[in-house]
Amino acid sequence: MTPVRPRTTVQLLQFTDRHGQLATVRHYVLSGWPREVDSELRHYWNRRHELSALGGCVLWESRVIIPQKAWPRVLEELHVAHPGVSRMKSLARSYIWWPGLDADIEKIAKSCGTCKGHQRSPPKAPLHPWAQLERAWSRLHIDFAGPFLERWFVILSDAYCTWLEVKPMSSPATGPTIRVLQSIFCDPRTT
Ligand SMILES: [Zn+2]
Repeated sequence: MTPVRPRTTVQLLQFTDRHGQLATVRHYVLSGWPREVDSELRHYWNRRHELSALGGCVLWESRVIIPQKAWPRVLEELHVAHPGVSRMKSLARSYIWWPGLDADIEKIAKSCGTCKGHQRSPPKAPLHPWAQLERAWSRLHIDFAGPFLERWFVILSDAYCTWLEVKPMSSPATGPTIRVLQSIFCDPRTT
């Protein structure tokens, strides 16, 4: 079969109409299913209670069933940004279906180095929550803000009670930062 690219919904409808299997499925959806079907229609028959016909297309639940002639073009669209096998499957799952769609997606991803690279990327590390605190001044968060009106600011926040200290400084360099922090922290030698 020569792959043909559907460019419009009308073409998709024409393919549905002309494609033997899907035209038969559409007929059954509209006028009732026989007690048995040929093995090639088994995938549709298994879903027969979830199929509907809408404006010439056949739907499985909310997914449009793509006629075989359009499969290559649709696979090409799914693969355009090399999203990797999982993302392609999840994209497809939202909109389209045909028998063997998952296997076709796996085949494309397997033969593509870029998609395989996506698959090999390590899973994201789980976020680690900060430990619960029992007293003030036991964990501080510090950052710089600026420049604003030619000044920088050290912002220090106490994680327990969210107390804020904001101190202006001339630049976010080490020396001024140490001096600012010394002015905030108690020096045990002087208490
Ligand atoms: Zn790819």
